[in-house]
Amino acid sequence: MIRLIQQNVFLGIIIVAIIIAMTTYFINKNAKESEETIVREFYALGTIIRLRVDGKNGEEAIQEAIDRLNVIENKMSVFKEYSEVSMINKNAGISSQEVSTDTYFVIKKAVKYSILSEGTFDPTIRPIVSLWSIGSDKPRIPSKSEIERNLKLVNYEDIILDEKSYSIGLKHANQAIDVGGIAKGYAADEVNKVFKNRKIKSALIDLGGNIYALGAKPDKTLWNVGIQNPFNTRGEYIGVISVKNKSIVTSGNYERYFTKEGKIYHHIIDPKTGYPSESEIISSTIISDHSIDGDGLSTGVYIMGLEKSVKLIQSLKGIDAIFITKNKEVYVTSGIKNNFKITNIEFIYKDNI
Ligand code: ADP
Ligand code: MG
Repeated sequence: MIRLIQQNVFLGIIIVAIIIAMTTYFINKNAKESEETIVREFYALGTIIRLRVDGKNGEEAIQEAIDRLNVIENKMSVFKEYSEVSMINKNAGISSQEVSTDTYFVIKKAVKYSILSEGTFDPTIRPIVSLWSIGSDKPRIPSKSEIERNLKLVNYEDIILDEKSYSIGLKHANQAIDVGGIAKGYAADEVNKVFKNRKIKSALIDLGGNIYALGAKPDKTLWNVGIQNPFNTRGEYIGVISVKNKSIVTSGNYERYFTKEGKIYHHIIDPKTGYPSESEIISSTIISDHSIDGDGLSTGVYIMGLEKSVKLIQSLKGIDAIFITKNKEVYVTSGIKNNFKITNIEFIYKDNI
């Protein structure tokens, strides 16, 4: 009898001790998580991705975001042999391919921005992009005849979209789609969705310079995002834009390029010439609610030239831009004037074009 009581007391003490230990663990964990800022850096979609999340559920949210990014990459990368985009390309001139809603949405938007940018943005640029191989370890200057030959294949009007069957095709053999100029924007929007579903109130999503600022900073002030100095190495800014719940996407000549005999060959190709764009704009930043819009537009307006680009952005509701020219002039559209400050005095603020 006495032994039984002793055993029960002993068991009781152990149970109480376990309960205390577990409660302390969870209190500490919660306290730590709510103060914690989690930053994760990794490589995906051909670029360095940096996710910064504040508050509870950060770890789980980041993991889910990484999974989502991998799904998007597997569907849209032209470097994956069996991605949906690769399948469309393999069957160019033969048949349309049924694709997921992700890929359909991105290519449909890409066509929309091709029309808006008067074909300066063109997702069928792939045959030219692969000639140059910029960003690979073997970039090269193609011959004039190679460019002429492949330029004939570039035409976004040859993309066949069928909304009923969710299928996409290309009219002619050897045509190929490249969503490299727009997919990161979509991916940023999807990470934003994942975070919002997980009740994250504050995060900074950076997909290789394609940025989405979710909410405000944990201290409730606006996020400050630096606009890269296109004449300098990464990390130096010409100015700062302060925002919350906005996408900030920049296309710049400094992102991917190679130099040959003193000349820079960058990765934004003018579909009219087949050569890197030579407009006076060397950096175009789009500020918008959705990153896919910012990404789709930033590449096209970079090529379009200043006058047309400013007009186009001003005509689009809820979309703003910062353009930097070869002469170090900075043009800012009216919607963000009060949120943007030049911090490098070499650059001159221009009100009008
Ligand atoms: P980044 O990928 O550096 O963020 P962009 O969004 O401007 O920059 O996309 C550039 C990429 O888009 C290129 O690497 C290429 O794959 C593709 N591209 C190049 N020129 C064009 C173009 N005129 N229209 C559509 N896509 C393009
Ligand atoms: Mg883009």
